[in-house]
Amino acid sequence: MNLSRAAIVEGLEEILGAEHVVTDEEILRQRSVDNFRKLENIFGRHTLPPPAAVAMVGSTDEVAAVLAFAERHGINVVPRTGGTATEGGLETHVPNSVVVDGSRMNEILDVDPYDMQATAQCGVPLQMLEDRARALGLTTGHSPQSKPVAHMGGLVATRSIGQFSTLYGGIEDMVVGLEAVFPGGEVTRIKNVPRRAAGPDIRHVVIGNEGALCFITEVTVKLFPYLPENNTFLGWTLKSMKTGFEVLREVMVAGYKPSVARLYDPEDGALHFSHFAAADDCVLLFMAEGNPGIARATAEGIAEIVARHPECTPVESGLIQTWFDDLVWGPDKITREDERIRTTRNVNRTTEVSAGWSAINDIYEAAIARIRAEISDLTVLGGHSSHSYVNGTNMYFNYFYDLVDCEPEEEVSRYYLPIISIICEETLRHGGSIVHHHGIGKARAPWVRDEYGSSYVILERLKQAFDPSGVMNRGTIIPS
Ligand SMILES: Cc1cc2nc3c(=O)[nH]c(=O)nc-3n(C[C@H](O)[C@H](O)[C@H](O)COP(=O)(O)OP(=O)(O)OC[C@H]3O[C@@H](n4cnc5c(N)ncnc54)[C@H](O)[C@@H]3O)c2cc1C
Repeated sequence: MNLSRAAIVEGLEEILGAEHVVTDEEILRQRSVDNFRKLENIFGRHTLPPPAAVAMVGSTDEVAAVLAFAERHGINVVPRTGGTATEGGLETHVPNSVVVDGSRMNEILDVDPYDMQATAQCGVPLQMLEDRARALGLTTGHSPQSKPVAHMGGLVATRSIGQFSTLYGGIEDMVVGLEAVFPGGEVTRIKNVPRRAAGPDIRHVVIGNEGALCFITEVTVKLFPYLPENNTFLGWTLKSMKTGFEVLREVMVAGYKPSVARLYDPEDGALHFSHFAAADDCVLLFMAEGNPGIARATAEGIAEIVARHPECTPVESGLIQTWFDDLVWGPDKITREDERIRTTRNVNRTTEVSAGWSAINDIYEAAIARIRAEISDLTVLGGHSSHSYVNGTNMYFNYFYDLVDCEPEEEVSRYYLPIISIICEETLRHGGSIVHHHGIGKARAPWVRDEYGSSYVILERLKQAFDPSGVMNRGTIIPS
């Protein structure tokens, strides 16, 4: 039989103590959504059932006890750390869900400059770990724009990626080992070694699970030397995205590893570069880093490749550095943006996908053309590529619209989901992936079968095997 809200709260208080069980109604309403329905928080107009409680877990044992309690009583669990999710992974669609919040588990357990790895609990903000590493002349190499606010558990759970990914990779390239708790309370640890070939790489059952299979309690990531004094910035303007993709491809295929490699279209670029780029200019930019020889050779190699494309006009490198220095989003910038939306009712949204070099420009052009034709009230529609690989790149669509004759809580169904639909349809039609780094959440779950095709059975069986009672973040990744 389902437990009442009061009984759920009582059960959690027995495990954690009343001081670590949040039942304040306003906080519960806020915890029913994430950035996908951020307007519900900005305007205070909530539509989803609030969770029964937020369980502020303080240790792996407490996570295990809470997950055992949830499994015993069939309570839906929504894992949470930094709360910066953008795709509805934190939404509590199931009445009387319990949000299991790991932000109290915020200790850096070890920084090892000899084996070049650091271990942190799930609730450590990435910025805190990065600051600790930098004090030793090291870096994690991970720099998502949410670095000050996202935590290690969520960053691993979403397969996050940072601005320096072309050199350091995504989080999946950085995680060495981890600890996680599975439904029912089973604690499991994947040890820290440089590589293994002992069967399938089971780290990937946990990395990217978005709280739908297990709760990540501890992660160990690689460290690298931090040498910002050698950072070299390069930039060009050009008129065609197609040429820009071609240059990016040539750089990647030639084997260069700039930490930053980006291509902005005119509308997205105008948000950052209008002080030097014309209204119809695309902007191509790179940062080379590492020890002096590598940084120099990387910058020279890229410049040689771009020189083969005379339509690219060089930009003074200081202008690119200025842009770079203002890239990260801390709490102040997020609050300012929420206030801008509240007062102007002009909403900024993003959706990121990936595809091979032969398809990415077609996806970009087709999605932009359809959005422009099918969606009204747009004030900005553009995009950029920010993460490149030898075989392809991503496209990060960036769009703004005014809410016209639309209540804030209708924004997702009236504007956001129709645009996501177009982007997913065009990406799938051209053979790309509908999610490059924000996760599926609940927002893109309707397209997950088409994303996986015949491999969807593997995903379904993982869910059945590790969460047989279906209590982990129902509706996330796998539609309910
Ligand atoms: C301003 C802004 C900028 C952003 N920039 C980037 C960027 O550059 N790159 C990028 O990749 N993303 C970016 N994001 C998205 C977001 O920051 C990432 O998805 C991040 O990894 C989420 O981490 P979090 O700690 O906030 O997780 P949360 O928001 O708390 O949770 C995210 C998801 O992971 C699950 N989860 C959380 N903790 C755990 C855990 N301990 N165990 C299991 N599951 C868990 C949740 O259930 C949810 O599904 C940005 C978001 C914002 C708001």
